[in-house]
Amino acid sequence: MNRVREINRIIRIRNSTTAPLEPVGWSKCGFCVFRNACWDAAVRDKDIATVPYVDQGAWHQLFGSGVKNYHQLYELSEELLAEIKRPWGKHRRRIGPARARKIKKQIQALKTNRIIMASPPPLPPGYRPGTRPLMMFDLENDVFDPDLGVKVYLWGCLLVKESGTPAAKLIVAGPGVEGDRQGWLDFLAWRSPWHRGQAS
Ligand code: SF4
Repeated sequence: MNRVREINRIIRIRNSTTAPLEPVGWSKCGFCVFRNACWDAAVRDKDIATVPYVDQGAWHQLFGSGVKNYHQLYELSEELLAEIKRPWGKHRRRIGPARARKIKKQIQALKTNRIIMASPPPLPPGYRPGTRPLMMFDLENDVFDPDLGVKVYLWGCLLVKESGTPAAKLIVAGPGVEGDRQGWLDFLAWRSPWHRGQAS
């Protein structure tokens, strides 16, 4: 961005008596001191930025076209939503059918305040509560931030065997692609002995 234009933008914001128009975002607002104020207002207004899969570019495109809350967004057909182009880096890219479908489903859940299951999670054949050994995973990430670099930042694992204390393991990935890779390798290194029945 042109530096002079950016400085002018900052001066305009500093002199303004109203909040600048800015979508909330799952990761960008995380540590911001204004988080409560911005998110409370966005949730109150049912702002389309609170709908998962509505990225920042889509927000600007839709908001600029007058689609400001998710009730209005829900009025758009999935097909029309999929065709809308939003800023994407230096280009423009269609929202696309897969993302449009997810957005509509998310709004449906928000409107009805109910969980909508995309498909029932398949359980391994023969599993019954109390089956041992049992391996539990808690993989955490931010699926809404493709730029984060880390696919999974926390690998939580618990192995419950026939007897003895359950073996717990926490792997926290370092930053960036390398941290992501190392987290995966650490997870594999821990999982391999268990796979051979030797985990402790
Ligand atoms: S919480 Fe912070 S980062 Fe998020 S929209 Fe408000 S000012 Fe911007």
